[in-house]
Amino acid sequence: MAMSSSITAVSRLVHLTPSISNPKPFLSPKPLFTLFSLKSSSYSPILSSSSLNSSSSSSSSAAAANSSITMSYDKQLVAAKKAASLAARLCQNVQKGLLQSDVHSKSDKSPVTVADYGSQVLVSFVLQKELPDQAFSLVAEEDSGDLRKEESQETLQRITKLVNDTIANDGSYKVSPLSEGDVLTIIDSGMSEGGPNGQHWVLDPIDGTKGFLRGDQYAIALGLLDEGKVVLGVLACPNLPLESIASANQTALNKASAGCLFSAQLSCGTYMESLDGSPPVKVHVSNTENPEEASFFESYEAAHSSHSLSGSIAKKLGVKAPPVRIDSQAKYGALSRGDGAIYLRFPNKGYREKIWDHAAGYIVVAEAGGVATDAAGEPLDFSKGRYLDLDTGIIVTNRKLMPALLKAVQDSLKEEVLPSL
Ligand code: AMP
Ligand code: MG
Repeated sequence: MAMSSSITAVSRLVHLTPSISNPKPFLSPKPLFTLFSLKSSSYSPILSSSSLNSSSSSSSSAAAANSSITMSYDKQLVAAKKAASLAARLCQNVQKGLLQSDVHSKSDKSPVTVADYGSQVLVSFVLQKELPDQAFSLVAEEDSGDLRKEESQETLQRITKLVNDTIANDGSYKVSPLSEGDVLTIIDSGMSEGGPNGQHWVLDPIDGTKGFLRGDQYAIALGLLDEGKVVLGVLACPNLPLESIASANQTALNKASAGCLFSAQLSCGTYMESLDGSPPVKVHVSNTENPEEASFFESYEAAHSSHSLSGSIAKKLGVKAPPVRIDSQAKYGALSRGDGAIYLRFPNKGYREKIWDHAAGYIVVAEAGGVATDAAGEPLDFSKGRYLDLDTGIIVTNRKLMPALLKAVQDSLKEEVLPSL
């Protein structure tokens, strides 16, 4: 059922934009990325994207060399990095000159911007362009409902222009401009239900929209599920500096110019590069076992996660540093490179976490040696559809600190009841 809705969306897309349905393998007119051997500590280049569409013997032999890898997702990873980078470019341009008219309220009163929609269109477009031979299923946050209303005409035109300009400036895809109808159809390609069977992309086109609106942290978060497990994840964090933010305050963060791209594939580790294309470096979570040396991340928005509960957990654990409060899955990215050792997330009772708010971050941290569980210590289960079914909250840290953290969480939860939504 999940697959059938997305296949319908794609076939409508194919009907509307014949250029997207071209079954010939896509050949980039210029190299998009240079891949680096994931097994090599010296990061020697092994192939460029211009060879990606022929079968990649180097990458498959690298994968075969590791007996724990049963399946390589190299091609999907390249496509995901391209998709998230292009979406990040659109978001950066919108954030630079955000207009009042670019921001709208969804039915649940949460904000959505032209960049959320534009990012979702670009990611879906690029994935389908780069992987033309693969069945496409996308579980994504936005849908076209509000944009189909009469009063949204101008907004839809603005999104369509932003997407077409971004594709044209990039120059990788020789396609005629997308129409407004194409844009609506592509947005709705994200309506898959996911689930335990087959492969599903999972996208938050702008995670941390409130941070995006403040000019702070946000992320384009893209993961891939295979048989219910997260096997790949990419986090584009346009406002996250390449340097550690362990003790940075928000003002210092806002001055950062770079922007990071984290990428992880099952059994291959987590890598970070700059959004403007520096060589990837392998990252690892902090290996501290001493809570006194550990700092912790939490949401900037107190409405998303109880600051008082995390304060009590940190105190019980013996954490000395003040919390680092930033928006979005940039927290998972920062944790994966050891900027802090703990991430605590405790929404109000009754809040249902969505898979796109955690899938990419989950594997970015796991492949960097960390672990994310619910408040009962159970692994996160991404196979249940669009929502995570979990107990109370999400906690993330390294393997050494997890037992002590779990005890502090459970003790604190006995003393403090989370408010209901
Ligand atoms: P963060 O930036 O880490 O606070 O998380 C951002 C995400 O929180 C958004 O993408 C929303 O999906 C999600 N969110 C929205 N409302 C709530 C809520 N009441 N409690 C927890 N998370 C929420
Ligand atoms: Mg989100």
